[in-house]
Order: sequence, then C-alpha cells, then structure tokens
Amino acid sequence: MRITALAGGIGGARFLRGLLAAMPDAEVTVIGNVGDDITLHGLRVCPDLDTVMYTLGDGIHEGQGWGRANETFSIAAELEAYGVGPDWFTLGDRDIATHLVRTQMLDAGYPLSAVTEALCTRWKPGVKLLPATDDRAETHVVIAEDESKRRALHFQEYWVRLHAPVAESIVFVGAEQAKPAPGVVDAITRADVVVFPPSNPVVSIGAILAVPGIREAIAATDAPVVGLSPIIGASPVRGMADKVLAAVGVETSAAAVAEYYGNELLDGWLVDESDAAAVERVQAAGIECRAVPLLMTDINATVAMARAALDLAAEVGKK
Ligand code: GDP
Ligand code: CA
Repeated sequence: MRITALAGGIGGARFLRGLLAAMPDAEVTVIGNVGDDITLHGLRVCPDLDTVMYTLGDGIHEGQGWGRANETFSIAAELEAYGVGPDWFTLGDRDIATHLVRTQMLDAGYPLSAVTEALCTRWKPGVKLLPATDDRAETHVVIAEDESKRRALHFQEYWVRLHAPVAESIVFVGAEQAKPAPGVVDAITRADVVVFPPSNPVVSIGAILAVPGIREAIAATDAPVVGLSPIIGASPVRGMADKVLAAVGVETSAAAVAEYYGNELLDGWLVDESDAAAVERVQAAGIECRAVPLLMTDINATVAMARAALDLAAEVGKK
C-alpha cells in the first residue's frame, strides 16, 4: 500500500511514527513543510524536515519534540560571548552538523530534495521524505505594531521570539512562483491513501498547499484523502495554532478546520472523541467524519489513530 502524508513538525512526525508502526509494510512518502525554513549564522535550517527526520530516525529530543537528543550548546555559548545573535533561536551543537552538511550541499548546487535524501541516508526514517518544494517559499506573518504600522515577520521570529501575538495575515513569500519538488505530485497521484496528520492547518499543511500544483493534485486524486484534527475542544493540543487560524478567519475548532480544508480536498476527517458533537457539522460539509481518541499520549494511542485514519480511508474509498 502506498501512503502519502503531508507533514509539519511535531504533530506530523509523532503521527508518522504511529502510522509506520501500524503499517510496517506500507510505502510511505512524506511531503514536508519548508515554510519555516530560515538562514541563521549562514546556515540553512529546515526545522520541520529535521523534526520528521530526527523523530523517525530516533535522534529526536523526546521531551521537547524537536532538536537532537543529548544535545550540547557550546557553540551557542560561544556566539553569546561574542554578542552575536539572534539570541531567541538557539542551535545545538549536534543539530548544527546537520545544518552544515545541508548548507554545504546547497552551496554546491544540490536542490533541497537531494540534500534531504542525502541526510536521510544517515537517519533512515523509513519513509521517503520530500520537501514540498526546492524553491524558497517562506511563511511570513503580518502583525500590527500600532494603528498605522504593520510589519511582516519571518514565521520563526513571530513564533519563537514573539510567541505568536495577534496576527493580521499570513503570507507565503515566494510560494506562488515555487514548483513542487521532484516526486511530490507523483507521490500524490500514485498514492492509495493521502493523509493530513494533526499538523498546523495554516503554517504547516497550509504552507505546503500554497505551492501551486500540490492542492490541485490532492483535489484531483481518486484515492481517499483523510485528515486528523490538531484541534481538540477549542484549542490546539500544543502550540499556538489558534493565532494563525484567527489570522485566516477560521475559528479554532475541529469542525472549522475540516471546513477550511473543504470537501474538494478531504474525503474523511477524524475529530477527538470529546468533539463528537462536531461530527454532524463536518458531515454536512460533505466530509465523512468519525470521533475517536486523538491524543498521541504514547505509541499505542498513536497507532490506534493511524488505524482509525486508514479505516476511514477504506470506508470512503469504497464509495
Ligand atoms: P510544528 O511544525 O512543530 O508546529 O508541528 P505540526 O504543524 O506538525 O503540528 C502542530 C500541531 O500538532 C498543533 O496544532 C497541535 O495542536 C497538534 N498536536 C500536537 N500533539 C497532538 C496530539 O497529541 N493530538 C492531536 N490531535 N494534535 C496534536
Ligand atoms: Ca513547523
């Protein structure tokens, strides 16, 4: 069975771990978000691709959900001693090796997709990990500094430095001109099932869908497309997705996120068991919906979520 999943960072990566455990023989392709990518100290950093790679390659800091396990911060301390910032984004020593290899390869002319493949030969994530695009397409967030002054910030500055203040809009800079990376459209077209893990609908999945050709391929596929809500009740399970949902005019609820994707993209949607009351509204939007436990508390719970998503895909696929 061929499964293609779109993924951001933590939510995507943790779900994928469950999916692989549930379906060890499946051929899984992951289309990763590059909207969060940033250049720091001359190094190209791809936080979401690395979170997927480290999580599935057993190199992740488990408690944090991002960055390397057993990390040290000598280089960050030295930079601080020089007074060289930014002080709001710290890179660990082990992690820096990844960014050094990536930057060297990019500078030598390799596209990000080839670089990611090379990095994955070490991590063996058990999936084919493709960046959504090889082109630069970065997420920026517009905030109001006061009545008359607006400022667009790189997503990392908005999220990590400012902790997601009220946002007016989200701009995927460069996305319009970007092309899907080699293999991305093919992975969607050839998939038996397409999955949207419980990743951020705006700045993770939304940033992937902003690359022309990807949304269209998902809308066009005959294979079932199923998603899992990252929102339980009226808030994200972790992080600040409510802030970026508000910026695109979407209420923070499992049903509203399903409607935001719409039935052109989604055939099926899972909401948490505590959101069973939302099922009817999602079905009314033309999307098959089930309520099941959606908290990734441990691997067994996550495997059960992956199975529920595939069961729903099988059901909607029969129609
Ligand atoms: P990021 O790039 O690291 O922010 O990761 P993603 O975009 O892949 O995932 C972030 C989303 O994952 C947030 O909106 C969370 O609400 C969601 N999330 C995290 N843990 C869980 C969980 O256990 N269950 C569900 N349903 N969503 C989760
Ligand atoms: Ca991210």
